[in-house]
Amino acid sequence: MSLTYQVINPATEELVTDVSLADLTRTDDAIERAHRAFHSWRAISPGERAKLLRAFAQHVTNHREELAQLEIINSGHTLGNALWEADNVANVLNYYSAAPERLFGKQIPVPNGIDITFKEPLGVVGVIVPWNFPMPIAGWGFAPALAAGNTVVLKPAEYTPLTAMKLAEIALKAGIPEGVFTVIPGKGSIVGNRFVTHPKVRKIVFTGSTEVGKSIMAGCADQVKRVTLELGGKSANIIFADSDLERAAAAAPGAVFDNAGQDCCARSRILVEKKVFDSFMGYFETAVKKFRVEDPQLSTAEMGPLISKKQWESVQTFLDEPVAFTGSAPSGKGFWMAPTVLQPKSTSSRAWREEIFGPVVSIMPFDDEADAIAKANDTEFGLSGSIWTNNSAKAIRVSRAVESGNLSVNSNSSVRYWTPFGGYKQSGLGRELGPDALDSFTEVKNVFINTDN
Ligand code: NAP
Ligand code: MG
Repeated sequence: MSLTYQVINPATEELVTDVSLADLTRTDDAIERAHRAFHSWRAISPGERAKLLRAFAQHVTNHREELAQLEIINSGHTLGNALWEADNVANVLNYYSAAPERLFGKQIPVPNGIDITFKEPLGVVGVIVPWNFPMPIAGWGFAPALAAGNTVVLKPAEYTPLTAMKLAEIALKAGIPEGVFTVIPGKGSIVGNRFVTHPKVRKIVFTGSTEVGKSIMAGCADQVKRVTLELGGKSANIIFADSDLERAAAAAPGAVFDNAGQDCCARSRILVEKKVFDSFMGYFETAVKKFRVEDPQLSTAEMGPLISKKQWESVQTFLDEPVAFTGSAPSGKGFWMAPTVLQPKSTSSRAWREEIFGPVVSIMPFDDEADAIAKANDTEFGLSGSIWTNNSAKAIRVSRAVESGNLSVNSNSSVRYWTPFGGYKQSGLGRELGPDALDSFTEVKNVFINTDN
C-alpha cells in the first residue's frame, strides 16, 4: 500500500504537490543503507569530510532562493524568514565543517603507560523534525551529526517535507555519498516511531511537542538509546519600569508573532511592571497594529498564515480570555489570523499556561523583581525569555534567576548557530548548536596502553 500526503499552500489553500510517504519497509531499507554507509563515512579522512560539508554548504547557498520559495509555498513563511532559514542551514554546515579536524580526545597522565580518549561517532542518527522551522531544525541535527562521522536518517514533519527533500538532493549533488544523509518523508507513528525502535538507529534528535517528546524518551529507554529533545515553551518577556519602554514595546510583537507564533521560543507571556503597565500597553498597541500580516511572498511581510486548518482551529480554542486588542490579517482563503493580545484573568488560565503555537500573546502586570521572577518561573517550560531593564545588576540577577536555557537582555534574539540552544525543565534535554553539540553525537572511548616491559 502506498501512502501519499497532499501538501497544501497555507496562504492560498491550493494543492502544491503530492508526496509519497514511506512505509515500514522503506524506512527499514533506508536505515540499513545508512548503517552500511556509516562504515565508509566514518573512515573518510577528517579533512576530506570537512571539504564535503563545505561543498554541501556552498550548494545550499547556491539554491537559497529555490529553498526559500519552497518554504514559502509549503509553510507560509515570510520571504525574509525563508531566506534566513536557508542561509542558516549553510551557516550551520560551515560552522560544523570545522569540526572533523578538531574532534580532539585527551591524553591523561597515568602510571605504567599512556591513557588516551577518542570521540567516536555513534552510528546512524535519526532526526525527527517538526513543521514550524523545517530547514533550521533539520540542519541543527544533521550538520553536527555528519561532522562527527555519523550517518543520518531524517523524518520531516508530514506537513512540511519539501525543503528537507530538496536538501537531500543537494547533498548528493555536493558529493555527500549515497546513504550518508537520507530524508524519509512519512508519518510520525510509522517512520518516526521506527527510528525509536530500530536497534541500528543509535540516537534520536527530536524537536516537537512535549507530549510526543516524552513518549520518544520513554521509547528510547528500551535500548538506552541516546536522545536529545527540543520541546515546547511558554517564554516570558519581562519588562521593568526602568527599561526603554518604547523600544521594548516596539520589539515585543516580533518576539511572539514571528512565524505566526509557531515558534518554541515565542515570548508568549509578557510581564510588565505595574507602574508602567498602561503606558506599555499604549506603545504595544501601536506596534501590534503596525505589524504586517500579509502575502508571505512580499518582502515587507512580517507574518504569514498558520500552517494548517487544524493548527488554526487549535489556536482559536485559547481565545476565551478578555482580548485587549488585535492587529489585522487578510481575509479569504488561507489560514490567516490577526495577532491577538489577551489579558487573562488569572495565571491558571489555559492561555497563560499552555503553549498555543499561534499569534496569541498573554499579558499581565507584576509588582516587583521577586514577583516577576516567580511569575516567569511558574511554568513547566523553560526554553527562552527576555529581560528589559537599564539596570545591569538587575539584568544579571534576573537572568540568573529565570529557569530557562536561552535568555536575552534588552533583546529578543535567542538563536545563534555558534552558541548553545536548549531547554530547562519540560522544554527539553540536551543542547544543540555551539561548540558543545558535538558531544551529543559522539561517545568518549578511553584506551590505556601499557608501556611496561
Ligand atoms: P509533534 O506531534 O510533536 O510532531 C513533531 C514531529 O514528531 C513530527 O515530525 C511528527 O510527525 C513526529 N511524530 C509524531 N508522533 C510521533 C511518534 N509517535 N513517534 C515519532 N515521531 C512522531 O508536533 P505537532 O503535532 O506537529 O504539533 C503539536 C503541538 O506541538 C504544536 O501545537 C506545538 O504546541 C508543539 N510543537 C512544538 C514545536 C517546538 O519546536 N517546540 C514544534 C512543533 C510543534 P508527523 O508530522 O507525521 O506528525
Ligand atoms: Mg502531532
